[in-house]
Amino acid sequence: MNIVLLGAPGAGKGTQASLLEESFHLVHISTGDIFRANIKEGTPIGKIAKSYIDAGKLVPDEVTCDIVKDRLSKEDVKGGFMLDGFPRNTFQAEQLDRFAHIDLCVNIDVDLSLLMDRICGRRVCSCGESYHVSTLNGATTCKKCGKELYRRDDDNPETVQKRLDTYFKETAPLVEYYANAGKLFTVTSGKQPPKAVYDKIAKELVRRGRSKK
Ligand code: AMP
Repeated sequence: MNIVLLGAPGAGKGTQASLLEESFHLVHISTGDIFRANIKEGTPIGKIAKSYIDAGKLVPDEVTCDIVKDRLSKEDVKGGFMLDGFPRNTFQAEQLDRFAHIDLCVNIDVDLSLLMDRICGRRVCSCGESYHVSTLNGATTCKKCGKELYRRDDDNPETVQKRLDTYFKETAPLVEYYANAGKLFTVTSGKQPPKAVYDKIAKELVRRGRSKK
């Protein structure tokens, strides 16, 4: 089963992907993580991506689609994957339909008023885990792997506002795109804990025939 995770920045796509990866045989592919790894390594792709990411804009489609196409050609995704952060506009969704088959789009719907606080209070680990300062009780290291947590450069109020604007203008229309394709499953996150949201998504995956590990 191949899944697209859709949702505004801060909706919890990464958190849900981690939970789903643990319990279903699905490979988690985050374009944001791929770009951040390229930036860290100083690759040509990283150099292009950085200026767009810092400005809260989308990295050009050509670069992004090539990265995803290449990643999806690898053997490990053959048993199913979850795309987190891709596609982010209609052009990318159309391109994706050309080089992969998507079975389901899980749309995580969350109240706009919660997003700014969620993202600005986010602390992440290079292992992929993410936390909110309000639940860390002053801890500065990852509970899963022990590494130092950090705040993403683009998780500041000014860039977050731009990312949200970009989301509503360019990415939100994909809800209709996948609804029209008969592939949309929307889960309302609200203030529910991640596990409650996960339970709903997991139930839907099982209902559609995906078995747990
Ligand atoms: P994320 O980690 O998904 O929040 O992505 C962080 C940033 O990476 C975004 O704000 C964009 O600048 C860039 N990015 C991630 N995925 C895409 C994509 N599919 N298309 C264009 N830019 C992307």
